[in-house]
Amino acid sequence: MPACRAATVVPVSSSAKRLDPRAPFVLDVHDLGRRPGTQREVTHTAPAPADLGIEVLSVPEGSPVELDLRLEAVMDGVLVTGEARAALEGECVRCLEPITDELDVDFQELYLYDDTRDAASVEQEGDDEVSMLHGDLLDLEPVLRDAVVLALPFQPLCQDDCPGLCTECGARLADDPDHHHDAPIDPRWASLTTLEEGQE
Ligand SMILES: [Zn+2]
Ligand SMILES: [Zn+2]
Repeated sequence: MPACRAATVVPVSSSAKRLDPRAPFVLDVHDLGRRPGTQREVTHTAPAPADLGIEVLSVPEGSPVELDLRLEAVMDGVLVTGEARAALEGECVRCLEPITDELDVDFQELYLYDDTRDAASVEQEGDDEVSMLHGDLLDLEPVLRDAVVLALPFQPLCQDDCPGLCTECGARLADDPDHHHDAPIDPRWASLTTLEEGQE
C-alpha cells in the first residue's frame, strides 16, 4: 500500500540528516554566533574513521587525527578552514613493502545554515556537493575524507625509484640490485632445456 511505504520512508531520510553531536568529527558551532566576521580557532583531535584514505595508503582506523580549525561566521553559513595531521600506513604498489608516512593536509569548506532559503533549495535539489549545517552542528568527516584522498599519491612508493619485484621470481629488487636470472624461466622453453640436458 503506497501510504504505508511513505510512512516508513520519511523517518529514515530525516534521521539520516540528523547528526550525532558525539560523533568524532561533528562540531557544535553554537558559540560562534551568527554575526559575519566572528571567528574562532579550534584544535580538535579525534580517532580516524575506517577507510580514511585509499586502498593502498590510509590513516589506520582509530589513530589520532589532529585538526587545527578556524571557524568563521559568514553571511550564508560557517566557513571552516583547517589543517589535518595523521599517520599513514600502506604499501608500495611496486614491491608491496610496508610504508609509513605522515599526512598533512589543508582543507576549506563552507557549511550553509540550514534555515535559509538557499538551504531549502539545496535540500530539495539533493545537491551533495554542498555542505550544510544541521542546526548548530557540522560534520567534518566527508570534507576530511575528500581532502585526504586528494592529498594521497595514487601510487604510493617506498622510494621514488623503487625497482619493484623481479618478474620471474618475485624477489624485491631494491634489496638485491644485481639480481638476475641466467635463462628466462618460461614454461615453453623449460621442456627444451630438459631435452638438451638429457642429450649431454
Ligand atoms: Zn617499493
Ligand atoms: Zn628473480
